[in-house]
Amino acid sequence: MEEQQVRAVMEEAMEIGRRQIPHGAVATYIPELGKARKDALGLCIALPDGTLYKAGDTNIRFTIQSISKVISLCKALELRGAEEVFVHVGMEPSGEAFNSIVELDLQANRPFNPMINSGAIAVESTIIDYVSFEDMLAYSQLLCDDPGITLNRQVYHSEMNSCDRNRAIAYLLKSKEIITANVDNSIELYTKLCSLNVTAESLANFALLLANGGIRPNTGERLLAEDTVRTVLSIMLTCGMYDGSGRFAVEVGVPTKSGVGGGLMASVYGKCGIGIFGPSLDKKGNCIAGCEMMKQLSSKLGLHLF
Ligand code: GLN
Repeated sequence: MEEQQVRAVMEEAMEIGRRQIPHGAVATYIPELGKARKDALGLCIALPDGTLYKAGDTNIRFTIQSISKVISLCKALELRGAEEVFVHVGMEPSGEAFNSIVELDLQANRPFNPMINSGAIAVESTIIDYVSFEDMLAYSQLLCDDPGITLNRQVYHSEMNSCDRNRAIAYLLKSKEIITANVDNSIELYTKLCSLNVTAESLANFALLLANGGIRPNTGERLLAEDTVRTVLSIMLTCGMYDGSGRFAVEVGVPTKSGVGGGLMASVYGKCGIGIFGPSLDKKGNCIAGCEMMKQLSSKLGLHLF
């Protein structure tokens, strides 16, 4: 990718993204998230040779929210193995909202996939006896190559006071014997992991690690097994944008994961990692600017998988 071309495409994408911002809304169901600056927008692209392209608000800290589901899945696959993990969670798109509960009760004996709340709580239950929150914080810092990641206590407490629905999901999982862990402990770990403060740059670094098959490009160190990366990216492609995953796969064709804090992480295999921050969300809870920006980047830089 030529530097001049990438910078021009990024500027264009930022413009396209900015125009989307008024059409979305900042998440308020976690009251603390409602304080985010709606017009913030950042885009970071990380290349294997160490080049970092940045535009806009790439160093503002915001909470990772659902993108932490990718980190938990990596840890669970590495620690417990795919066979054990997929006893507790499926690998099929749900076609439902990220916090949906009804179809879990009516149709499924396990959550549809690890990228929705029920699935992440189930995945985390497979590691909760083996790792502490502090271990997961250090692991997140490692995967994102960002020692500055910390727990955002305000967001954590705010979500803990408004997470009845996630609690209901955890109780339902327990009643179906999908999880055996204590519900309070599961919700505490899940919510803390959602409340980690990252930047668009940290997300680009993590996306690059996945795009590079699990090897950190600047050190050559393998941080994730190849199988883990293949599984995680496949699930991001099919399920990472909740009930918007199918359209996103068609239009963008890049494994991507969103979070209601406004983050978007996209991993272009063999090419680059992309991190976006924009807290104005569409109706499905995806960064509204980021979705349009990804369309533009994909078409102008030829990033679509197919
Ligand atoms: N912490 C959020 C929740 O459980 C994460 C959801 C998201 O980012 N989509 O509702």
